[in-house]
Amino acid sequence: MAATKAYAAQSATTPLAPWNLDRREPTPHDVEIDILYCGVCHSDLHTVRNEWGGTVYPAVPGHEIVGRVTKVGNHVKRFKAGDLAAVGCMVDSCRECANCKEGLEQYCLNGMVGTYNGKDKYSGGVTYGGYSKQIVVTEDFVLNISDKQPLEGVAPLLCAGITTYSPLRHWNVGKGQKVGILGLGGLGHMGVKLAASFGAEVTMLSHSPSKEADAKRLGAHNFVLTKDETQVKKVNGYFDFILDTVSAEHDYNMYLNMLATSGTMVCVGAPPTPAQIPAFNLIMGRRSLGGSLIGGIPETQEMLDYCAENNIVSDVEVIDIKYINEAYERMLKGDVKYRFVIDMATL
Ligand code: NAP
Ligand code: ZN
Ligand code: ZN
Repeated sequence: MAATKAYAAQSATTPLAPWNLDRREPTPHDVEIDILYCGVCHSDLHTVRNEWGGTVYPAVPGHEIVGRVTKVGNHVKRFKAGDLAAVGCMVDSCRECANCKEGLEQYCLNGMVGTYNGKDKYSGGVTYGGYSKQIVVTEDFVLNISDKQPLEGVAPLLCAGITTYSPLRHWNVGKGQKVGILGLGGLGHMGVKLAASFGAEVTMLSHSPSKEADAKRLGAHNFVLTKDETQVKKVNGYFDFILDTVSAEHDYNMYLNMLATSGTMVCVGAPPTPAQIPAFNLIMGRRSLGGSLIGGIPETQEMLDYCAENNIVSDVEVIDIKYINEAYERMLKGDVKYRFVIDMATL
């Protein structure tokens, strides 16, 4: 056991503050990583404030982790001390069920182990995430990253990147399609970059007028201000596919109306409050409404390789860990360009 510095929330209403946790000694299949950068996902905030329920305290969030390997167990094949390595939203799964065998560990039929607030198979307690100096993870859930890209820009790919890449690939979004990305935050800005790189015509659907220029710089062809009825009317019945990344309560029906006949809207944003959707809003126009959870390990590696080949990284604001509580407040206001990333040297 090694004592590791971390930042934790002790309850739903207390700010994150320094805390020490214990990481296990690497087992023969484990990789020990010194964390260099960790991205700040809105799921961290939902969890810390117990907005979805089920948070175990102290809670140490963070699942967009990049770092350098310090030690490996003697059965580890793909990593050695000194290598770069990354960890995303999962640190384990059963590896035996049909979904795990297909590389869809995020849908493990026995429940995947989240990087934080998951059931730790080793300690019997809860898992602690990347707002910490070190992490120990079984090799199969550790990813390879390129040494040619800025590490702070790579970190958010581990959640925001894969969470948008996976549904865009699953629903075959590409050339000839009209795609709407709803919400320009961490997930949304990766959604714009990836959908544009797949050849789709991309429209940013945002409630923040100040984000129009950035949306276009990130690759969006069009911008629709969702507070402006005239602009909304123009895109009713327009999109083949909409990716909804919004973190707060919003009216799904308004966006379903923007789908063309047989269009699909996929939710990745996870507001804590349930939505009301009349069946008629799906029946008319044969619309589909779906959801998608992060991505499996093979697809996460595929996405990292794709981003390395195509020179795609996240647009980040690197922060000192002492700024994390202010960063959360800014995230709630939609004031992030477009992902906070903690420089772990500040811990
Ligand atoms: P984020 O950076 O805070 O971005 C959310 C964006 O939603 C904001 O930038 C804003 O964009 C829009 N928004 C916020 N409040 C709104 C409101 N009241 N009405 C309309 N739009 C609003 O968050 P994120 O890290 O991208 O995460 C987004 C959501 O995805 C969270 O709920 C998170 O938990 C969830 N998530 C899901 C998965 C998954 O596997 N499915 C993975 C990661 C995260 P505009 O200013 O452009 O409108
Ligand atoms: Zn996340
Ligand atoms: Zn499984």
